Amino acid sequence: MRLAGKVALITGGARGQGAAEARLFAREGAGVVIADVREEEGRQVEAEIAEAGGRAIFVTLDVSSDEDWQRAISATLQQFGRLDILVNNAAILRIEDIEETTEELWQRVMDVNTLGVLLGTQYAAVEMRKVGGGSIVNISSISAMTASPLAAAYHASKGAIRSFSKVAAVQYAGENIRVNSIHPGGIDTLMLTETYDEANRVEALKNIPMGRMGTSEEMAYCVLFFASDDSTYVTGAEFVIDGGILAH
Ligand code: NAD
Repeated sequence: MRLAGKVALITGGARGQGAAEARLFAREGAGVVIADVREEEGRQVEAEIAEAGGRAIFVTLDVSSDEDWQRAISATLQQFGRLDILVNNAAILRIEDIEETTEELWQRVMDVNTLGVLLGTQYAAVEMRKVGGGSIVNISSISAMTASPLAAAYHASKGAIRSFSKVAAVQYAGENIRVNSIHPGGIDTLMLTETYDEANRVEALKNIPMGRMGTSEEMAYCVLFFASDDSTYVTGAEFVIDGGILAH
């Protein structure tokens, strides 16, 4: 019950890592808001949590829409009365190289992956201030720290999240609102299987010292640490969870 009495909003909570975080946070006692553009999957996660005795609601949220954020925050307050934790997890991955990256593609990736984080932080900070503090966990990527010949916009967006997190950490430190970034790599989710073919994935495995991909559940335990009161003196930090990819 490491999140007893707390309320968490998780963007991109309908599947993959976000859904694993929603389930774990509910088991740890939090009221959970699953916020995503995928209504069907989101409602399924909501129902699973309720069946397991947890508290969760699904809200439709496109993180790049200011109006959607206002609705999501209202729904959170109406259901649970407060907001303590925000996990900015929603993102899209596009693998075009620099010259293939159109202005439209660049803008969409930036809107979802970075504007979404700005809007979420703005709205969450207002609510966290009212309850004396909170924790914002921004899901970046090892792509913020390393390069590949592809995914120009994605890498740039994840780099932006990494530095934005430190700015937010410094701005809100005096109000007890902590902001940290997490940098996963090689987590076995649909984001990767929908983007890369089997040959690519087999090749990628060779670069993981642990010899396997990580699971969404392993990721969720890491996010839990930053979200909970186990990390009350941790802000502006970045944490890599990648089976050793960056270490070699
Ligand atoms: P995923 O594609 O399964 O999950 C992403 C979720 O975000 C989906 O539910 C999707 O519907 C939602 N989403 C997309 N656009 C949205 C929008 N505009 N508004 C609201 N929700 C939206 O992938 P995942 O692997 O679970 O990704 C979670 C996070 O982890 C992402 O930030 C991703 O960039 C990051 N990440 C993943 C890996 C990996 O190996 N899987 C590596 C590094 C970083």
